[in-house]
Amino acid sequence: MVLLDGKKVSNELLINFKEKIDKLNKKIGFAVIWIGNDEASSIYVRNKLKKCEELGVDGHLYHLDENVKEEEVITLIDKLNNDVNINGILLQSPVPNHIDIVKCFNRINPLKDIDGFSNVSVGNLCLGKPFHVSCTPKGIIKLLDYYKIPLEGKNVCLINRSNIVGKPLFHLLISRDATVTMCHSKTRNLKEITKNADIVISAVGKPNFITEDMVKDEVIVIDVGISRIDGHVKGDVDFENVSKKASYITPVPGGVGPMTIAMIFDNLLNTIKED
Ligand code: NAP
Repeated sequence: MVLLDGKKVSNELLINFKEKIDKLNKKIGFAVIWIGNDEASSIYVRNKLKKCEELGVDGHLYHLDENVKEEEVITLIDKLNNDVNINGILLQSPVPNHIDIVKCFNRINPLKDIDGFSNVSVGNLCLGKPFHVSCTPKGIIKLLDYYKIPLEGKNVCLINRSNIVGKPLFHLLISRDATVTMCHSKTRNLKEITKNADIVISAVGKPNFITEDMVKDEVIVIDVGISRIDGHVKGDVDFENVSKKASYITPVPGGVGPMTIAMIFDNLLNTIKED
């Protein structure tokens, strides 16, 4: 069994990004908009800004009150869209219920849409002409590529249909000639599908959701799920037992998570036109 070591791969990528950033004759500006005080978001936002500092990116946090009006968020996005010193904009989710997150994502200039969630970014991906691709799906593909795992003709069971994970990942996988079965909470006989899959990608958010009896020998397992239990981060997969059958498997933590962060900076570098 080979561990798909996202921490190691992302560190290598980030070293490479820093070298590229150091060579630029201009600063990269990155704006993070965070609304409210969601606890998990506070960790994610802090980590992103810490990485900015390490890489020499100009990170700016716009922390808005949870009662902020939607128009004020839109005004801020417009201001950042027009700011030549800002290359990328990321709106941290979740946002409070009174804010229409899709409307806000769509307001971000697609060239600055680091998360790839705007309708233009998603449309470009569906049409096979991606510019910014959302970071978790992109990170998963990078990780598979790093370990030279071919996707062509592989049966992939993807358990998730959300806008941020399942849908973009589906498009990336089919663009690489995988055969993808996209599963969700209404899928019948999930075990039959996972058992037949060469690659199982689980993003459900339930610990021990994928058990040994659900996968075939030599399966490749990508665990995207994150659950916090007694202060510990757990994935979807019963790692101890599934890893005995798997040929490759991601750990949690240290698998998909670090790749997601690295892809933010991959997308940011994408915004730079070298003179
Ligand atoms: P989400 O919108 O809640 O998606 C969960 C998906 O799981 C949905 O498609 C849901 O189906 C499906 N599901 C739930 N119960 C199921 C069941 N019993 N059988 C089959 N499918 C089931 O969440 P998300 O935002 O996509 O995130 C998913 C997980 O990935 C979370 O744990 C999140 O924390 C984690 N995540 C990790 C990273 C990272 O960097 N590592 C990044 C993003 C997300 P329905 O559509 O029918 O509800």
